[in-house]
Parts: sequence; structure tokens; C-alpha cells
Amino acid sequence: ESVVNRIAAGEVIQRPVSAVKELVENSLDAGSTSINVVVKDGGLKLIQVSDDGHGIRCEDLPILCERHTTSKLSAFEDLQSIKSMGFRGEALASMTYVAHVTVTTITNGQLHGYKVSYRDGVMEHEPQAIAAVKGTRITIENLFYNMIARRKTLQNSVDDYPKIVDLLCRFAIHHKNVSFSCRKHGAASADVHSVATSSRLDAIRSVYGVSVAQNLIKIEASDANPYSSVFEMDGYISDSKYSAKKTTMVLFINERLVECTALKRAIEIIYAATLPKASKPFIYMSIILPPEHVDVNVHPTKREVSLLNQEVVIEKIQSTIELKLRNLSE
Ligand code: ADP
Ligand code: MG
Repeated sequence: ESVVNRIAAGEVIQRPVSAVKELVENSLDAGSTSINVVVKDGGLKLIQVSDDGHGIRCEDLPILCERHTTSKLSAFEDLQSIKSMGFRGEALASMTYVAHVTVTTITNGQLHGYKVSYRDGVMEHEPQAIAAVKGTRITIENLFYNMIARRKTLQNSVDDYPKIVDLLCRFAIHHKNVSFSCRKHGAASADVHSVATSSRLDAIRSVYGVSVAQNLIKIEASDANPYSSVFEMDGYISDSKYSAKKTTMVLFINERLVECTALKRAIEIIYAATLPKASKPFIYMSIILPPEHVDVNVHPTKREVSLLNQEVVIEKIQSTIELKLRNLSE
């Protein structure tokens, strides 16, 4: 049974960066305003995510890492929206089958916190009382220690640290009211260091730099379709003064970080057609759609999604961008 669990867990957590994504999403779901990540050996030795969220109650700790344990399923949540967010209650459990997991947490109003470690879905000992300030810290050590082939492959390729930094940059600009940091274990300075702000442009500036932020224009679209609920899009796209060899597209759909290749291509095409002298674009975009319009068509842990009425949505976004860019160049 444990081999089956391990294989299943290896599917949910495919690389260090997938573990970081799950942990950061949990911290965001816990209402955190500050999230700090520390990584050692590209995440294979250590991933530590600390937040100041609402914490985990002591009585929930024994089952925290059992599969399908989630505090986020309400009776009315439809199957579709569960699907659009990937597995439910599987992430932490999965990590305990392929790594050593330690949780330190304190809930509001408690005098002390608790520390507990897990292996293969179960607690290794009773929660131990410890001093703690606020929130939760989850430590993942020796990821894939029991999956020799996976570990070898990851050790022999470029490590995940740049991917982790890129992931946190994306979260930082979408969740502008949350401060994020990411650094290598033992490093004096952070590689991502965002300060909470109410301005999206400030968030982009603090993460991607002035040269990106000063060359952006705001884009917005909404569309009340008589047959379905509302579509809303807002974001930023670079103008002709921006310069980059590769497209950067930071896309959130229904508050989840995703990728949509068809949409990205469509934007690249309209961008090149409207600003023929410009380089590849930088795009930040947040889209809100009815959950049943978002389809995670590949694999629940993959970020790629497709949309129902994709052509309609894409055309709307294309024409919005075209109009904005044309007005600009006139
Ligand atoms: P899911 O996020 O789908 O519920 P997870 O396995 O990722 O499943 O997490 C299981 C549960 O553990 C969550 O539902 C939440 O109650 C709790 N949890 C995990 N991380 C945190 C955190 N950083 N702060 C508060 N609660 C957490
Ligand atoms: Mg989760």
C-alpha cells in the first residue's frame, strides 16, 4: 500500500516547485499577509514556507496529513470548481509520502503553538507545545528521499530554484496586499522581496523592476453575456518601449495561477500586429469567469487550462488590447 501511496504522491508533487506552489496557496488560503520561503539545494534538501495566517487548531493536527483532509470543502461547493483548483486535501498528505514534513503552528488567542512531524500520512509523535508568534511554518525535508530515480533526475538537471523564484514573483504581483520573500538557505539577502502595497504597478515595480513597470498600460474588459454569467478581465500589458526576448505572461483565472497557451499565443499575435517594432510583451492578467467555464484539461497538477467559449474570450481580449495599443501609438 505504501508504494501505491508513494507513486500517487509523486504524481501530485512532481518537482520541488510544485511543493512550493501548494504550500504558498495554503498560506494564501489561510489569510496570510506575509509569506516567507527558504530553499536549500533547489528544494530537494529543504523547503520552508512560513506565514502569518490563521494557523491550524491542535485538534486538527492528527488528521492534517491524511489524504482528503481539507477544511475548504463546503457543502455547496460544486464538483466543477473543485476540479478547477486541482486535488482537494491531497497536497500535504502527498508530501508526507515523499518527504519529511514538520508543521509548526499557532492559532489566534492561544498561549503557545504546536510542533509535529509526519511520515506516510501519520503523525510521528504527539504535538509538542512550543513558543510561537503567529501563523504556520511548514518544513519539507529530503524531498523524494524514497524515490531514487526521481531524485537522481532532479539532481542531475538544473535545480528548481529559479522556477521557485519565478513562481513567487507571479504570486507577489497578483497578491499585492501580501508581502513575499524567497531566499536560499543561509543567504543573507532575498531573491524575491515584495512589500505589501495597494498599487499593482508598485507590486510589479518591486518584483520585476522599474524598467518593466514604467512601460505598462492598463487593460480592462468585461462582457455580460445574456446566456451566461459575467466575464471580467483586468491587467497590464507592455507598450512599445518595453524590450524582452521572451514573452512573460502572468495569468490568474479565478484567483488561481494558471497557463493558457491559446490565450498567450493570441496576445502575442495581436501585439506583434499592432506594434510591429515592439519586442515580445510582458502581460499581467487576471480573469474572472464562472468556475464551470474553466477546464483543467490536462492533469490536475498541471497549470494549463482551457476555457469554455475560448474563442469568444480570446477575441474580446484581443480587441481590447488592440484598441489600447492603437490609441497609444496614435
Ligand atoms: P487543501 O488545500 O486542498 O485543503 P492541503 O493538503 O493542501 O489540502 O491542506 C490540507 C489542510 O491543511 C487545509 O485544508 C488547511 O485546513 C490546512 N492547512 C495547510 N496549510 C495551512 C496553512 N499554512 N495555514 C493554515 N492551515 C493550513
Ligand atoms: Mg492546498
